[in-house]
Amino acid sequence: MTAHLQSNLPALPISDANADFIGRARHHLIGGQWVPSASGATFATFDPATGDVLTHCAQGEAEDIDRAVKAARKAFESGPWKALTASERGRIIWKIGDLMLEHADELAELEALDNGKPRAVARAVDIPLSADAFHYMAGWATKITGQTMPVSVPYAPGARFHAYSLKEPVGVVGQIIPWNFPLLMAAWKLGPALAAGCTLVLKPAEQTPLTALRLGELMIEAGVPDGVVNIVTGDGESAGAPLAAHPDVDKVAFTGSNEVGKLILRAAAGNLKKVSLELGGKSPNVIFKDAPDLPAAIAGAANAVFFNHGQCCVAGTRLFVEQDVFDQVVEGVVETAAGIKLGPGLDDATEMGPLVSQEQLERVTGYLASGREDGADLLVGGGRQGDRGYFVQPTVITGTRPEMKVVREEIFGPVLVAEPFTDEADLVRRANDTTYGLAAAVWTNDVSRAHRVAAAYRAGTVWVNCYNVFDAALPFGGYKQSGWGREMSGEALDLYTETKAVVVGL
Ligand code: NAP
Ligand code: MG
Repeated sequence: MTAHLQSNLPALPISDANADFIGRARHHLIGGQWVPSASGATFATFDPATGDVLTHCAQGEAEDIDRAVKAARKAFESGPWKALTASERGRIIWKIGDLMLEHADELAELEALDNGKPRAVARAVDIPLSADAFHYMAGWATKITGQTMPVSVPYAPGARFHAYSLKEPVGVVGQIIPWNFPLLMAAWKLGPALAAGCTLVLKPAEQTPLTALRLGELMIEAGVPDGVVNIVTGDGESAGAPLAAHPDVDKVAFTGSNEVGKLILRAAAGNLKKVSLELGGKSPNVIFKDAPDLPAAIAGAANAVFFNHGQCCVAGTRLFVEQDVFDQVVEGVVETAAGIKLGPGLDDATEMGPLVSQEQLERVTGYLASGREDGADLLVGGGRQGDRGYFVQPTVITGTRPEMKVVREEIFGPVLVAEPFTDEADLVRRANDTTYGLAAAVWTNDVSRAHRVAAAYRAGTVWVNCYNVFDAALPFGGYKQSGWGREMSGEALDLYTETKAVVVGL
């Protein structure tokens, strides 16, 4: 590929800022400089609404990862980052959030272009949540504290000690993120790592590198010193794997599929780096007939699975409905699905955009075919929409058996499986009958039942009479095979700090 690359402007008009941004090949951010790959290689990122090439990015490989890790190591060991006070560090992180809000329209449009999601949704959800993740973590920078402990040391009678613990940054961090919420996943990773005083190398998903790169520019503007945040674009095998395996990376934080999560673990074993994982889900959403507002529960069930085109790790893909209201609820969700307007993310009338990639289109339609072959009933949707772009119709499936692939496996598309139930204890058993444990919900007016079911769920987040409620103050992560560790909230700091015990003989 040549250095001068042709980009395709999308059919719908975009801002001058974004036309300019995608009008040039994008480079890695290493040591405060925008640089091409050592090999000169690039890859294309596509507009999911059309399948056309949007622009080209540097294809990161082991050598680029090594340069980025060296820059992060240098910034960690010496230089201005280490010398900043916690308050100064917090103010830089706060400024990143401010700059994101200042550029919210532009970032939302870029996210819609690269990922396919509706621009209005990115503007209302992704961008404010991402900015808030930085604002929230900015406050933590000054509140990372150890403790003092009264030590007794029974084998040294009469001796006296003063003991305390320190929380120190874990060091150089590798962060690998997926494409479903590109900017938000970057914010969840970067905010706590920076608050803790780490330096890092971020690898965005190859499908959606653009907003992370724009964020890199904003971070420089906010005053993040050179080498503290490095961004290397590229695919998982070429750029992700060498980052996970790098011997001078102290910790790797990953969000993505369980399959790749296991590869990360193996790669991390070489230098026993710390690992945190946010993986997949197959979340149960349960509606009892005494739900306080059945129409709201129906709307909630549709939102639980169709938001972000079902490309949500917490998607409520297994809907359990009490038998007496099963038909009513399923009809309501089917009606909602049939009415969802599919279109390009840049069209303001669009309610659901395309899936992110050709690969994802094939994966999701493959699951629809498997549901059909297994004899399930596809009540609405059931296939690709149109022949251009990666659009899949919102689909509702009933008549399933527990062993079917559509019931057991994460589809990561707008596909709902609905089943009736009659007995609460049996329902809880079925809801928990999954290798995942990311999220779960229950809709009921019975306060005792709400707490009973919430306690019985083996999941990291439980929503009662609501769904998809996220906040920077809420710890987020998975039970069982949905992950290791918790992001957001004060708990996220644990992922990026080491505890040091100090004992002083008096
Ligand atoms: P994925 O294939 O696991 O990819 C995630 C990231 O890992 C990407 O940046 C990918 O790079 C990279 N990667 C791939 N192979 C790698 C390797 N061998 N070594 C190191 N890195 C590698 O997942 P996805 O398809 O992007 O995302 C969908 C999955 O993520 C779903 O299963 C979903 O549930 C999960 N997810 C979980 C959460 C959560 O918070 N729990 C959030 C969002 C998504 P490339 O794609 O560029 O090749
Ligand atoms: Mg793209």
